[in-house]
Amino acid sequence: MTTDAAAVLPFDEETLWEFMSARDASRAGSFFCAVRTTGIYCRPGCPARLPLRRNVSFHATAQDAEQAGFRACKRCRPGAIR
Ligand SMILES: [Zn+2]
Repeated sequence: MTTDAAAVLPFDEETLWEFMSARDASRAGSFFCAVRTTGIYCRPGCPARLPLRRNVSFHATAQDAEQAGFRACKRCRPGAIR
């Protein structure tokens, strides 16, 4: 995964994970959450079932997530956020 992406993320990963598990849609656009097991990435606030924490990686931008090989979630359409 992209390890250097962590340097540009707005919060540490534990905080980002809290936003994801709280489905905090107000954070949409500030980071993206990619799921290793499904190959998709989401924005915070996504209504899909929460993935397991250990399968998740965080990305600062949708482009970064896609370059890491993830596809945009069809439910929250993270790639549409600019
Ligand atoms: Zn999603």
